[in-house]
This record gives sequence, structure tokens and C-alpha cells, in this order.
Amino acid sequence: MHREDTTMVVVMRPGASDGDVHKVVKAISEVGGEAFVSRGKHQTIIGLVGDISQFAELPLHAFPGVEDVIRVSKPYKLVSNESQPHPSTVWVGDVPIGRDTLTLIAGPCAVESEEQTVAACRMAREAGATILRGGAYKPRTSPYAFQGLGEAGLDILHTVARDLAMPFVTEVVTPADVETVAAKADMLQIGARNMQNFQLLKEVGMAGKPVLLKRGLTATIDEWIMAGEYIAHTGNLQIVLCERGIRTYEPSTRNTLDVSAVPVAQSLTHLPIIVDPSHSGGKRDLVLPLTRAAIAVGADGLIIDMHPRPEVALCDGPQALVREDLLQLRETIARFAEVSGRELAHPTSDRRTATWSRPVSA
Ligand code: PEP
Ligand code: MN
Repeated sequence: MHREDTTMVVVMRPGASDGDVHKVVKAISEVGGEAFVSRGKHQTIIGLVGDISQFAELPLHAFPGVEDVIRVSKPYKLVSNESQPHPSTVWVGDVPIGRDTLTLIAGPCAVESEEQTVAACRMAREAGATILRGGAYKPRTSPYAFQGLGEAGLDILHTVARDLAMPFVTEVVTPADVETVAAKADMLQIGARNMQNFQLLKEVGMAGKPVLLKRGLTATIDEWIMAGEYIAHTGNLQIVLCERGIRTYEPSTRNTLDVSAVPVAQSLTHLPIIVDPSHSGGKRDLVLPLTRAAIAVGADGLIIDMHPRPEVALCDGPQALVREDLLQLRETIARFAEVSGRELAHPTSDRRTATWSRPVSA
């Protein structure tokens, strides 16, 4: 099994005896770890370095005289930028998502019919998208809402995407559907509501396709990255994180776009990070301003909802862009991409150009 070094600090209570300290040090060395005792005037702390799997079983909190046990190193390893110091590029078909490019993913929120999907995907292409999106299996808050067309929807999107010669991403909501979806989709999406569905994360990871992992509605950045670690642990490192707004007390937007999450996550993980301005704001008029914010803050891409007739959309009509928005979106993205020193991501057979080219700190 692969060794994962970790650093922890055991803080002893002010009145802890030498015997209490000794018991902790002995327990740590018995499992093969190293302990470093630092005695202050009133309190003693014990630094601990070793393999996490050794300490996981030690109930250090329960030892006499122990006040607190603090983990210093991050719990994620494979997706951490300590293990991989260059930002990674994930390929969806022949399209890169990474630090040098700006990738636009667009399409309908849900696949409703062939006609609607063709129209929405053509709009996406016209806006400059190089990857399509569309939900066939929809995770809806209400059981009475449209649940998606399921496999029939997947087939429609697959046909439309192949006709347009574009790769596509689609959500999978249950482990039982992973094989079916992975057989056709170029990238599998884990939705916000399933971010901590660990069985689904493992199944999707094992499918071997690139994964788009949305941030949970109330997930901290560490929890989100840990969900990515679950996928990475299956051996699949083709993971893209997606900030899609979080639940706050503010009711005027559907969710609050956490723009800070982009640079914060980029400082912790080598995985690419994209932003979903559609599900963040939940309103058409907010999509362009939030797109500008996302690019300005350093997002590696965007995923945007569009619909030919939002007034009759079966899902998320209020946030869908319409034809009249496309030109402005295209121009906004091109202008902001240039300002942020990125190239719009296009399909390329030369995978070296966008891979591992810039250190994380740059
Ligand atoms: C979606 O992208 O269609 C979707 C349901 O998004 P989220 O999981 O972020 O709510
Ligand atoms: Mn939606």
C-alpha cells in the first residue's frame, strides 16, 4: 500500500504529567511514527510525523492529558499540488481543460427532445463552445419535476454531439447508470447534490473517463477537493473541479458564486477548475457578469446553459442564454481570455502544447 506522510500536533493540557506525555510518545513510536516533544512553560506539544494509516487507528484524543489533536498536512494527496507541482490538463476528446487555455462547455440544462437539443447545441457551438453539455439524468429537488429522458436523452445528445463532431459531458446520478453513460459520454459529471456520494465517486472514477466534479451546495473547499481525492484514489486523475455557487443567506441569487474558491483551490490542487455562472446566479442577466468575474479570477473554463426557447424549458429556463446573447458571450469570452493571457481551447491532436507547461506558483 502506498505510504502517505502526514504531520500532526498533539497539544497536551496545561496540567499534563510527564507520564501522560510519555504514554503518547510511546504509542506513536509503537506504530512506527516519530514524535518530537516541545515543552513550554505551561504546556507541552508533541509533533508527529509518519504514515497516516498508522495514526488513523490511534485514539489520541482519548489519551490522558491530551487537549487537542491537530492535523497540519492536508488530507488529500494525489490531487494536491504537493504531489504534482504543475497544474494538470484534462483532455475531453481532443479538447484541453487546463491552466493555459480557457475552455467553454455549453448546451442545454436538460435534453428535452431532439429538436431542442440540436438547437441548443448549435447555439453552444456558435458561442464558441468546444465541448457540449446536457443532462439526460436530472437530479431534481422535487420528485414531481422533469427527471430527464434517461437513456433516450443520452442517445439524443450522443447523436447530436457526434453530428457536430464535438465531445460532450453529461451527469450520472447513480452507480447503476455509470456503465451506460460512460459507454457514450466523453466526460462524466458528478452534480452538486452528489458531491459526497462516495460510491458514485468510486464507480465514476473506475469508468476511466474524465470527470467533472461540481462543488456541493454547502461543501467547504477541502471537502470538495477530498471528493476529488476519492476519484483519484481509483487511479483516475482526469478530474476537473467546478465551482457552481454555494448556499448562503442571500436570496436574490440562486446561489452565491464563490469567486475566491478558484484561486484558493488552485493553490491547493493541480486539478483544473472551471466555473458555472448559470447555476450560480440562476438568472440570464447574471451569466455574462459572472462569466467576466470567473475569467478574471483565473478559472480554466466555463460551463453555460443555453436554450432555444427558455420560456418552455423543462428545467432551469430562467438562467438559459438565448440566441441574442450569443454574440456578446462570444466577444466577452474572447476579450477576457486575451486579457488573462489564455488561449481559447480548441480541439488539437497535439496534446503536448497544453500539458504541464507552467508551475503552480506562476
Ligand atoms: C447541472 O449542471 O445540470 C446541474 C444540475 O448542476 P448542479 O449539480 O451544479 O446543480
Ligand atoms: Mn440546470
